[in-house]
Amino acid sequence: MPVAIKKCINPSCGLSFEIENDFYKCPCGSLLDIVYSVAPSKDLIEVFYARRNHGGNIFNESGVWRFRDLINFLGINTESFDECAGGLVSLDGAEGRLSRPYKMSKVADYAMMNHDNFLLQPEGYNPSGSFKDNGMSTAVTHAKMLSVKKLICASTGNTSASAAMYAANENIECDVYIPRGEVAAGKLGQAFQFGAQVIQVDGNFDDALEASLAEADETQGYTVNSVNPFRLEGQKAIVYRVMEHLNWNPPDWIVYPGGALGNTSSCGKCLLELYQWGWIKKIPRIAVINAEGANSFYELVNGLFENKRLDWNCGRPDLEMVERYYLHKQKNGFHPKTRATAIQIGKPANIAKALRAIEISKGVVTQVSDEDMTDGMSVVGLNGFDCEMASGAVPAGVRKLRKEGIIESDDVVVGILTGRQKDPKLPVEYHSNRSNRYARPAKHK
Ligand SMILES: [Zn+2]
Repeated sequence: MPVAIKKCINPSCGLSFEIENDFYKCPCGSLLDIVYSVAPSKDLIEVFYARRNHGGNIFNESGVWRFRDLINFLGINTESFDECAGGLVSLDGAEGRLSRPYKMSKVADYAMMNHDNFLLQPEGYNPSGSFKDNGMSTAVTHAKMLSVKKLICASTGNTSASAAMYAANENIECDVYIPRGEVAAGKLGQAFQFGAQVIQVDGNFDDALEASLAEADETQGYTVNSVNPFRLEGQKAIVYRVMEHLNWNPPDWIVYPGGALGNTSSCGKCLLELYQWGWIKKIPRIAVINAEGANSFYELVNGLFENKRLDWNCGRPDLEMVERYYLHKQKNGFHPKTRATAIQIGKPANIAKALRAIEISKGVVTQVSDEDMTDGMSVVGLNGFDCEMASGAVPAGVRKLRKEGIIESDDVVVGILTGRQKDPKLPVEYHSNRSNRYARPAKHK
């Protein structure tokens, strides 16, 4: 029996496949999960603690591979350094190494939360500056297993930076499809810096993704966008680090910005697995925060289109309604628009898996304005941490859910700050405008 298989997420299909290939969709059109044959022992919790004293072993140092027994789709002996080094892809143990939850009192005040039970986990301190490195380490591990020659992705900037960095380290080619003029200069610069072939697409991220998937089909390139189930396996490490910090006592809420919904999907799968293995006693609620200008998931889940709430529906979500929604938007000339370019996505590729995550976790989806997000981003800075505008959606979203009485002030809430500031214009502009909540304009002499 193989240690891991790909399995269709649609329960009325349920087809499964070996993992020695790079397709990410079932012939029925649904996305695929990675499913493991064995439930891991809870004794591993002690092993993970012990590995934090890494003794020079980069796979213990890595905040992803420290938990390698839970994502061991290669089926290696996880205690053998040679087997790890032969199979696992790591940026010298740097992915996830600096990431864990922190208390941030000023952000807690802004979000109307108690100081002690509101935590934020900055993923911007990953090597390429965003959470993407968590999932890229596992996706590129799978690519290496297949002896892939070229990675391909579409990106609003963070994915391309991460893919290009891993590709450079592994000596693999990397093509990145980027919507022209819609990517922060700092992120575009990273793709060039790490030697990727940049392909600029006239259109938005959704157009770039379509172009990159078509190219991957034609040229046998390996897609590293979050439709790739191996990306989502690595992103589960974000949740493992949250849980470890809380001694595996789950919080009441985990909060993410919502873009392509890969993180939401990964978190939902992770929580369900931990619960089914008996590692956690309850499943935290997931809150997804959309930008008002890119709010497809918010509108669909909350029944703002055709007066019907889109839900998981036991694995048969009404994806025809989603297509009608996209068509409706197109007919009305609507294009996703927010200055938080990392989440400027109109057609979230992981929508079905994200609906499952919302169902599993009794989650909620809300939206915040660009102004709210820049406030959120700025108050994180006042606590001495750095994040990009999309991450500012997290404090802003918690504040909104507090005002609505959905989150209580004594709930334990962990928010994920997904990336570092890569658009230096934003804080300069924010602080130059005296009317902004936290503005501290420059003085002139
Ligand atoms: Zn299927």
